[in-house]
Amino acid sequence: DGSFPTDYEIADAAETEHIADVVEPFGLDRDDLELYGEDKAKVRLDAIEETVAERDADGKLVLVTGMTPTPLGEGKTVTTVGLGQAFNRIGKDALVAIREPSLGPVFGVKGGAAGGGYSQVLPMEDINLHFTGDLHALTTAHNLISTMLDNHIKQGNELDVAVNWVNWPRAMDMNDRVLRETVIGLGGDVTGVPREDGFILTAASELMAVLCLADSLSDLKERVARIIVAYDDDGDPITVDDIDATGAVTILLKDAIKPNVVQTIEGTPAFVHGGPFANIAHGTNSLMADRLASHLSEYLVTEAGFGSDLGAEKFMNIVCRFGEMEPDAVTLVASVRALKYHGQDMWPPELEELEDEDVAAVERGFENLDKHVRNLQQFGVPVVVAINRFPGDTDAEVQAVIDHCEEDLGIRVAESNVFSDGGAGGEDLAEQLVDAAESDSEFEYLYEADVPIKEKIETIATEIYGADGVEYHGDAEEDIERLTDLGFDDMPVCMSKTFHSLSDDPSRKGAPEDWTLEVTEVYPSTGAGFLVVLTGDVLTLPGLPAEPAAAGMDIDEDGTISGLF
Ligand code: ADP
Ligand code: MG
Repeated sequence: DGSFPTDYEIADAAETEHIADVVEPFGLDRDDLELYGEDKAKVRLDAIEETVAERDADGKLVLVTGMTPTPLGEGKTVTTVGLGQAFNRIGKDALVAIREPSLGPVFGVKGGAAGGGYSQVLPMEDINLHFTGDLHALTTAHNLISTMLDNHIKQGNELDVAVNWVNWPRAMDMNDRVLRETVIGLGGDVTGVPREDGFILTAASELMAVLCLADSLSDLKERVARIIVAYDDDGDPITVDDIDATGAVTILLKDAIKPNVVQTIEGTPAFVHGGPFANIAHGTNSLMADRLASHLSEYLVTEAGFGSDLGAEKFMNIVCRFGEMEPDAVTLVASVRALKYHGQDMWPPELEELEDEDVAAVERGFENLDKHVRNLQQFGVPVVVAINRFPGDTDAEVQAVIDHCEEDLGIRVAESNVFSDGGAGGEDLAEQLVDAAESDSEFEYLYEADVPIKEKIETIATEIYGADGVEYHGDAEEDIERLTDLGFDDMPVCMSKTFHSLSDDPSRKGAPEDWTLEVTEVYPSTGAGFLVVLTGDVLTLPGLPAEPAAAGMDIDEDGTISGLF
C-alpha cells in the first residue's frame, strides 16, 4: 500500500549470509567461531587472544550517544548500526558493537533494541528474545550467589552474615515491579531464615558489569570472587569467594563472556554483547567486544546508552579508563521529536503532541542539545551532531537544527537517514566523523580516580548535570566514610540517575539550573571496580506501562511473529 514496511517485514525480506562469511574479510576464520545456527556466533576466547597479540589496534573509535531522549528512544542504536554500514560504503572498514537487549523493554514500551528500518541487526527476533542465552546465564549465575548466601545463613551462618545487611538482591530479566521489595524465607525453620529481600533487573546486576569489563576468563573469575554480597556483624565485607561460589558462578558464565557476532542488514559484522542499562549501570557493551573489534577494522562504532550525562560519561570515565581506550570522535544523536519534547512544558509528556510541525518548540529544545554538546567537549573529543530524521520531520525543522549547530555552536552536523535508506543515508555523517576522528584531539577524563569520593560525585553533578552542588541523604555520608575506611575510595563512580532529565528530577526538561543533586546511597561494586551512587529514586526493577507492548504481540501457526517491534 506504499507505506513504509515494518521492521519485521524489512528483516524478513533481507538476505543474510553465513556469519562465517560475514566476518571472514575482517580476519576471523570459521575456526575462530562457535556457531549458533548460521547467522549467530560467539568468538572463541583463544581466537581473541591470538588476534589481540598478532594484529595492531589502530582502529578509530566512534562513540554514539544522544541528547536527553523521550521515553520512545531517539535512535542511537539505529544510528550506530547505520553508521557501521555507511563507513563501509565510503571505503572504511567498520564494525559495530552494541548491547544485547533485555526482555523488560521488549515487552514494555520501547520495542526492539537492535536498530530499526534499514539499519537493523539480524536476526532481529532472536537477538530480542533469547539470543545466545547470555541474559539467562547471568540471571542464573546471579541467583546462584543469592541461593548460596541464604543457604549459608540457614546452615549455621558461620560467617556471621548480618541478615539486615545483605547487598545482593535477587535478579530477573523482566519488568515485574511487584518483586521490587519482598520478604523471603517464610514457612518456618525448614525453609530458612526470613529476611527482607528484593529483585533487580539482570541488566543492573553487578555480574552484568563484571561480564562487560572483564578481559579474560581468569579476570572474570577474579572479579566474581571479590564481589561483596553482604557485611558481617562487625561491618566487614563478605564476598562471593567467602561463600565459596566463585568457581560455580564462573562456570555458568563461561560462554556468556564470549562476544556474540551477527550481521547488519547490509552485511556489516556487529558485536552484540553485554547489556548494562546506562541509568542504573555503566551502559555499554562488553570491553571484550570493543577490544577485539579495535584489532579487526579501521573504525569501530559503539553505542553508549542514554545521554552524555549517563552512558557517555561512564564510557569515558569508567570503560575507557579500564580498557585503556579513547574515543576519536563522538556523535550526538538528536531528533526533532526530542527537541520538541524539551520545548514542551508537560509531565508526563504528551508524545502525540510532538508530531505536528513546530519550529519554535524545536528551538526551545536547543538548550538540552547544547548542554550535551558542552558536556562531551569537556572530554576533549570532537563532537558531530547527527539529526536522526523521522518520517514526520519537516525540512524547516531539520534546517533549524543544522543552522543552530553550524552557526550558533560552530560544530559539525549531518542529517542522518539511515533508518529509511540504510548506510546510504549516513554517508554524510560518516564523512564528517572521519574528518572529526582524524583531527587533533586531546582526550581527558573528567576526574582522577584517586580523588575523594565526594569530589568525584560533585564534579559529575556540577560539570555534567549542571547542578549547583550535592546533598547527601539517608546513610549516604556514612557510606562514603565507611568505603573510604575500607580503602575503596580510589575507584571511579558509576552514577545511577534518571534518564528523563539532565537533573535528578524526571519532570525537568532542557538544561535545568538552580538545583541540587540528591544522593541517597553509595555502595561498592568491587567486582566491576566502581562505586555505585544512587540519586533520586531510580528504579532498578521497573514495571510495565498501562498498555504493555507484550499485549500486542502474536505468533501464528507457521511461526510468523507480529508486534514484537
Ligand atoms: P535508542 O538506541 O536511542 O534508544 P533506537 O535506535 O533503539 O533508540 O530507536 C528507538 C525506536 O525508534 C526504535 O523502535 C527504532 O526503530 C525507531 N526509530 C529510530 N530512528 C527512527 C527513524 N529515523 N524513523 C523511524 N523510526 C525510528
Ligand atoms: Mg539503544
